[in-house]
Amino acid sequence: MTEQVTIRKAEKYAVSQRALAEETRSFFMQNFGCNRKVYNLYVDWLYNKLEETGYTGGERIPKMKLPEITMFKKEHSYLKEVDALGLANAKISFEKAIDHFNNECDHKSYTKRALRRDKSGTEKLTFRGLKGMPSFHSKTHGYNSYTTNCQYPNKKNKLKQATIRMEKNKLYLPKIKDGIELIVHRPFPEDAKIGNVTISMESNGQIYASIEYECIAERNIDLQQAVQNGDRDVLDNIKVLGLDYSQESFYVDSEGRKANYPHFYLRTQEKLGREMRKLSHMQKGSSNYKEQLSKVQKIGLKTRNQRKDYINKEALRLSQENDAIAVEDIDLRGMAQCLKLGKKLHDNGFGQFRVILENILRDKGSILIKVGKYYPSTKKCHCCGFCNSDIKLEDRKWVCPNCGVMHDRDENAAINIREEGKRIFADYYQSVLKKEEQSEMRAKRRSEFRHRSRK
Ligand SMILES: [Zn+2]
Repeated sequence: MTEQVTIRKAEKYAVSQRALAEETRSFFMQNFGCNRKVYNLYVDWLYNKLEETGYTGGERIPKMKLPEITMFKKEHSYLKEVDALGLANAKISFEKAIDHFNNECDHKSYTKRALRRDKSGTEKLTFRGLKGMPSFHSKTHGYNSYTTNCQYPNKKNKLKQATIRMEKNKLYLPKIKDGIELIVHRPFPEDAKIGNVTISMESNGQIYASIEYECIAERNIDLQQAVQNGDRDVLDNIKVLGLDYSQESFYVDSEGRKANYPHFYLRTQEKLGREMRKLSHMQKGSSNYKEQLSKVQKIGLKTRNQRKDYINKEALRLSQENDAIAVEDIDLRGMAQCLKLGKKLHDNGFGQFRVILENILRDKGSILIKVGKYYPSTKKCHCCGFCNSDIKLEDRKWVCPNCGVMHDRDENAAINIREEGKRIFADYYQSVLKKEEQSEMRAKRRSEFRHRSRK
């Protein structure tokens, strides 16, 4: 059985460089710059406030009323020339950065960079070096983007049509009358209701438009109903695949298969390393350095695209072949920080892979089950349930002291993850539904609030 549901999606298109008018490009650049400026003005304002109040860390950033953007516009009149909604979004992203610091950081550890600078005597440790503290966005390190929202006609604003529209391959944005031509690989759904668009620029100058939209989709709700009715016949027979994260081969699944991590990817990785080493020997700021930097950035971009392509295809295949997928709810960021695993972990994008899997599975009416962080998937023997706490990180194979079965470390873990995933499937599904309900309620309240405050 299917049900019509509203789903939120995003589609990212490259902007046709050939058809992009020079003045549109410079309008984008202006927006990127002004967004960065507004964000940095807020950071600067925050730092001043924190210094005034003698804040030294150890606690949350106190609640403060942020200055309005109009105040910045008085000082910097060029801010008036760009998309005002873009600036409003810069403010929102700054507010999010504060929330992130308050809710997800410990308010006392410092970044590696701050510790290094303290050690070498260049800069004393202050609250500015705290992990997660909002910091200035630099022009050279990305942050070339701005987000603008779509406004729809209503009685009050007297708009004739939506401010953002997609017509064939053309995207119309506020302040861009002629629209921009996109390279459309997948047609944009006609009934989509656009929420916002983010224009961004990669290091090689390529501009992208990422469109967030809502659309109505048919979702299979057989599994959901089975969960809600406690239908054991269905629940006991679902096909769950367990995945164990593996450094060497991306993942190992509960059938003992290793992900076939493509070789082309490794090759570009080697090349990237080589070119980065070359870069490190060059004089910063010299013309050779700049040339080499753009070379490195190009390879980096290619690697990222290859990876994205690979994990998307892999996620699609796995979600087609299984009813549900179970993974370990490991803290990848925490893992990357300890040991030498760091770089490799960031490189093969397992975190991104999980997010994509989660979305694809949800769209088809299933879920990605995240098995608890403290579940002993590696140490447990899947045959007899014995917990072997003697296993070390380097043991690839081990023999169960209780039942004598020999295990491949990763495969055994994947099987345990699958079994635990199966066990908690129904409860987990319920919790996902509950979360969705809550976030829908919040969105509803927010939009009601917005309506009221406008009146
Ligand atoms: Zn055993």
